[in-house]
Amino acid sequence: MKLFRSLALALSVAVFVLPSHAQELDLIVRGGSLIDGSGAPAVRADIGIKADRIVFVGASKGHTAKRTIDANGLIVTPGFIDPHTHTADDLSSPARSRNDAYLMQGVTTVVTGNDGSSPKNIGDTLAKWTRQGIGTNAALFIGQGTVRSEVIGMTDAKPTPEQIGTMKALVDTAMNEGAIGLSTGLYYAPGSYSSTEEVIELARVAGQHGGLYDTHMRDESSYNIGLLASVKETIRIGEEAHLPVMISHIKALGADVWGQSADVIAIIDAARKRGVDVTASEYPYTASGTSVVAALVPRWAEADGKLVQNLHDPALHEKLIAEMTDNLRRRGGADSLLMTSSKDKSIVGKTLAQIATERKESPVDAAIEISANGDSSVASFNMKESDIEAFMRQPWVMTCSDGSAGHPRKYGTFPRKIHEYVYARHVITIEAAVHSSTQLTAETLRLKDRGLLKPGYFADVLVFDPKTYNERGTYEQPELLATGVRYLSVNGQMAIDNSALTTTLAGRPLSH
Ligand SMILES: [Zn+2]
Repeated sequence: MKLFRSLALALSVAVFVLPSHAQELDLIVRGGSLIDGSGAPAVRADIGIKADRIVFVGASKGHTAKRTIDANGLIVTPGFIDPHTHTADDLSSPARSRNDAYLMQGVTTVVTGNDGSSPKNIGDTLAKWTRQGIGTNAALFIGQGTVRSEVIGMTDAKPTPEQIGTMKALVDTAMNEGAIGLSTGLYYAPGSYSSTEEVIELARVAGQHGGLYDTHMRDESSYNIGLLASVKETIRIGEEAHLPVMISHIKALGADVWGQSADVIAIIDAARKRGVDVTASEYPYTASGTSVVAALVPRWAEADGKLVQNLHDPALHEKLIAEMTDNLRRRGGADSLLMTSSKDKSIVGKTLAQIATERKESPVDAAIEISANGDSSVASFNMKESDIEAFMRQPWVMTCSDGSAGHPRKYGTFPRKIHEYVYARHVITIEAAVHSSTQLTAETLRLKDRGLLKPGYFADVLVFDPKTYNERGTYEQPELLATGVRYLSVNGQMAIDNSALTTTLAGRPLSH
């Protein structure tokens, strides 16, 4: 037995040492400033890649490779991981599946199906991505809103026990097919029609599979139960459904709750101290991206698909105007809503205030017209930098883009965080920024062997130039690709080479 053990040890040593010297590697990245994702300080080191894995990190002396990249003056990190995107359609579309907006930021893995809204069939979607090819790795949540509307439609009714059973079965199937957890959008219809207890029932199923709960909370502002009560609701769901919870795009939205980041942080820290696994993600912009309907129209007016009818119902008019007027105040007024994309092209690029002036009507009347006429995406300027910075400093806050049409965050979140909040304002260190975009996210999402530069891990590797790594998009022109990524390896294949996108689709669907 003893002999066997020492033989086994000798063999394992031999296996470990011999091939790494004897075999030719595919790639060596030499001389970069290496930030490994753990939060440890940058070191000057080389990294070796063979097939889809990292083989060594350290000195490359004695190793040979088919190709060597000189990373002098450049930063080398794990590929970034985005836990909240809206890329399901992009990834499924052969024309957009390379996921350019994310690759150009150095993102190698995206998660989608957030906000309670996901593809209905998780297994089919992941299979389609495998078949067609995708540029980044991608994982999926099953959306609670998707499940609910599948079973009972867009109603604000309370589901029967039997309907709850059907919803739970759908979540169970989705988890078996590879979903990483359950997402909710409790601010949006139909998620907003769900009680906490209803959500707990479904979250428990995801938890039984080892999944997590991701939420766009019921209220990030003062719309209904308020920001702090929403944080507490999320924590309660984690405690009673027994699963980790992630608060998506954490923020203090609107003047009524500005400064409440301190209270939110205290509540979350206390929950973490008593053992609840609570994390959050955040994007580094003062504007959120939403729509006129979502921002201003009360949810009761949307129920059962009767939006247009309700907007024009004289019996509801007074109540509607009163609530929309308050919602507009909460959002910072008509100057703070910028139309970013709509089927009515004449309003894009204008604020609600400008549109109202042009039409010689009140901003709320203009908003009702826009809502009845197909809605419009808006950039809603409603956050304070001090709250953004306070959240960013927390060790449990990840970077997310929440990328959507009409907002520069889809194209610039990751470089903006580093350019603006690390180098320009010194809010956090470069090591903390990288950690919040790599290992922290991989561990939270339970993505195996990703998020670190470490032997045995997947070769998702980013090489960027700190002098030029930045976003180019603006609110007026959001769809400009970021700059500064020199090289990007996705599972060991070059997705960006010498600053240019390649035709490689090296991403993989990551199932739970
Ligand atoms: Zn959201």
